[in-house]
Amino acid sequence: MNGANFSVVEAGPFSGLLTLSKDPMPGKYFLKDRLGLTGMEVSLNQLPEGGSIPFYHAHRENEELYLFIGGRGQLQVDGRIIDVKEGTAIRVSPEGERALRNNGTGDLYFIVIQVQSGSLRQWVESDGVIIDKPVTWQE
Ligand code: ZN
Repeated sequence: MNGANFSVVEAGPFSGLLTLSKDPMPGKYFLKDRLGLTGMEVSLNQLPEGGSIPFYHAHRENEELYLFIGGRGQLQVDGRIIDVKEGTAIRVSPEGERALRNNGTGDLYFIVIQVQSGSLRQWVESDGVIIDKPVTWQE
């Protein structure tokens, strides 16, 4: 379903991402192109038990926010190892050398939001606008 001012993707449960998405890595489901996002890249991720991203990577311009929503694992940044679980949120600067593994039991589920470092110019207090009309739910 799409409208003039919105787009919708149903990716299904995170436990199905490995079978849903093979691009470019199994279990990693990107949303930018699917939703037409213009200011960020977002991926939904399922990393199976024992799985890992088998290389370090950094970015040229983008910082990343890792939001962990299920399972247990470890994120490594510049040689520091951080235990992650549901509710862990980690920002990584573009130049941070990072790797990730699932050393827990069952799948590790997380969301990665990637955005140009230093690009945020306004946020809730100055960007949100209350619209003066009553809320209704009839279509
Ligand atoms: Zn990255």
